[in-house]
Amino acid sequence: MMKQIIFISTIIVAFGIFGITIYQIFKLFKLTKPFPIRDIAKRINLTLKIAIGQTKIFRMPVIGLFHALVFWGFCIILFGSLEMMIDGIFGIEKSLSFLGVFYTFLMASGDIFALIVLISIVIFLFRRIFLRIKRFSGIEMHHNSHADANVALTLILLLMVSLLGMNTFYYALKSSDETLYYPVSNIIAKYVYSWPNTRLVFYYNVSWWSHILLIFIFMNILPYSKHFHVFMSVPNVFLSRMEPLGKLPNMDNVTKEVKIMMDPNLAYATPAATDAPPERFGAKDPEDITWKTYLDSLSCTECGRCTSVCPANLTGKKLSPRKIMMNLRARMKEKGPNLVKDKSYEDGKSLIRDYVSTEELWACTTCNACSNECPININHPILIMEMRRYLVMEESSAPSGLNTIFTNIQNNGAPWQFSPDDRLLWANDLTIKTTKN
Ligand code: SF4
Ligand code: SF4
Repeated sequence: MMKQIIFISTIIVAFGIFGITIYQIFKLFKLTKPFPIRDIAKRINLTLKIAIGQTKIFRMPVIGLFHALVFWGFCIILFGSLEMMIDGIFGIEKSLSFLGVFYTFLMASGDIFALIVLISIVIFLFRRIFLRIKRFSGIEMHHNSHADANVALTLILLLMVSLLGMNTFYYALKSSDETLYYPVSNIIAKYVYSWPNTRLVFYYNVSWWSHILLIFIFMNILPYSKHFHVFMSVPNVFLSRMEPLGKLPNMDNVTKEVKIMMDPNLAYATPAATDAPPERFGAKDPEDITWKTYLDSLSCTECGRCTSVCPANLTGKKLSPRKIMMNLRARMKEKGPNLVKDKSYEDGKSLIRDYVSTEELWACTTCNACSNECPININHPILIMEMRRYLVMEESSAPSGLNTIFTNIQNNGAPWQFSPDDRLLWANDLTIKTTKN
């Protein structure tokens, strides 16, 4: 009974803190602009392929396989974690064992995956600490970024050790139970069979409590860590941009204005009440972006795959698409909570310039290699284009080469500095042969 009371108190505190954190993040989402969601069937298909099937991660086959195994392992092990919570609340043991063969299968798979995840995490930690992997470095990768990754990986490692410990001591205590089948822990249990029961019970309880407390700690650390992608990556893939990557979204208001200029008789020449000009063209700060782009920034794992294929970055430019996402997240963290309290809050800073320089923004070729490579379909060019739009339409501060083009388009209807009347001059000296019918 005492164990039950302690467990229920712990779970209330853990989920209470988690709930408060998620509510704070939800309030930040409310600051952003709408993002319509259509094509649900296509999205489910995409999620099964990219998120559950982990297809994009296999572009780096070896390390991708380890990552995919960790992901699939998490999905299976989650079942056992759920059972532990039910057991803890009701003071029972193996509450889901009524599922019979399916239960035995999931428990056995979870046990195997615990070992696979443990080995994978050791490899990940070894790579991060001892190998110089180029994509893990960059101006945006500070000491905190590396420490954050190592802490999260160590927590996962401890989670797997405690899970295997739990299975091992439980099996050593109940080896006569034929429904129990832990392929890995059964082998380890041979080394503890000879221990007295009291000792086995003690170590089982230590493993059980360590595992469940680590789950609660991990769950509450994640929203403050790059490993938030554990929660965010699947929804982020589901909410992927469905249009072809190269298609840049138009600004509806501007498109309408242009159409009206070209044909004032169009029905929509009379502006509707909803046609009010936007408060701001493009994006200067996080409140100007859609909630999907903010979700992108929260989902970013900082893996660097995007930056490693960015032609601007590869040719020595300052631009790093990973940095753009990290900057957006950091800026929202800085400004968002104040904006929640006061909608007109300004701190004299902005995402553009204070976090992302104009040099970075104009280095982008909009080739979309970054979003094509990102394993969770984050779309960087959309954000870059929105910030460029702000520079051009609100500040008229495009690079001089582009300003010349804009002026030419305005005056001549083409990017070149020739009058439209002169367009056919090139044909003046040509003798054109005509054919008789
Ligand atoms: S779209 Fe821009 S940021 Fe992305 S890879 Fe191409 S140049 Fe780099
Ligand atoms: S944007 Fe995608 S590819 Fe780039 S670092 Fe983040 S998760 Fe990795």
